[in-house]
Amino acid sequence: MTIETIDREAGRDNLLSVSDLGREGILEILHQADAFAEISHRPMPKVPALRGRTIVTVFFENSTRTRLSFEMAAQRLNADVLTFFSATSSVQKGESLRDTVQTVDALGVDAIIIRHPSSGAALQASRWVRASVINAGDGQHEHPTQALLDAFTIREALSRRSGQVVDDFAGLRVNIVGDVRHSRVARSNVLALAALGAEVTLVAPEALLPISTEGWPIARVTTDLDSTLDSTDVCYLLRIQHERMAEAHLDDLDEYRRHFGLTTERAARLGKDALIMHPGPMNRGVEIDSTVADLPNALILDQARNGVPVRMAVLFRLLGGPRTVGAESGDLVE
Ligand code: ASP
Repeated sequence: MTIETIDREAGRDNLLSVSDLGREGILEILHQADAFAEISHRPMPKVPALRGRTIVTVFFENSTRTRLSFEMAAQRLNADVLTFFSATSSVQKGESLRDTVQTVDALGVDAIIIRHPSSGAALQASRWVRASVINAGDGQHEHPTQALLDAFTIREALSRRSGQVVDDFAGLRVNIVGDVRHSRVARSNVLALAALGAEVTLVAPEALLPISTEGWPIARVTTDLDSTLDSTDVCYLLRIQHERMAEAHLDDLDEYRRHFGLTTERAARLGKDALIMHPGPMNRGVEIDSTVADLPNALILDQARNGVPVRMAVLFRLLGGPRTVGAESGDLVE
């Protein structure tokens, strides 16, 4: 049987885009993440939900938060975890993406968590392997688990404030500010936040706006950050992603900070309850002033912390069901 003819539906699933989930799917993950967040406060913060499963992180790009929190999430579910580093792998001898993921798949892993500089790489990989594929960032396309943990973090802050669980973001004004054009975080967040009812505005210099936002579920686009500050509930800042720019889109970082940085002065003009977010890594002094990143309403470390329960929920959703041994036989072992 060739890889193309494997029955893909037999006991496996992928997370390639937020649009794979829809509002219901997003909420199911957030609710499951509530339960997993609670586990992290226990003296032994582990559950045997994925005992016997193996997940592998296959990253062709650098990462701190995403890789570590996926690996921690898998360990907390008692899965076995393998880490593939492209810099020390046979990729350096010229091995292709296809041969690499098929080799990893042949080991018998249950999930491949992949990050790659090319948009569409995760989808492509999912067509070549039997394991579940989770997109941990593909070029400037999507980063679905980042959007899920961001939604979880906003929901946590709103729920804490109102004393009840807030699953509906209707009326919440979220401004995504900065290098939207090259940001997979922005694309996934727009989809997730809009699905939950938020009103999303993109704020960026012309050169860093997407070429087209047709079909994006956004309320508006503006190049004037100052005009948005007093009507923002969540100010979500993006890094300038030089590594994803084919040509220079920006030469003067001081000039960028003057117009688009969340400086101390601008942060003072936000409403007192406004939340400040950033997916990391931050360039302090460019898109966000250092003192602003450390304000009590800056949720950047909450976002990092919430990566673990949210990614536990994603792994559990994809791998938590009965296991099939080989797509050909479909034999259940548990
Ligand atoms: N860590 C996020 C990503 O991988 C954001 C960034 O790199 O600026 O897309």
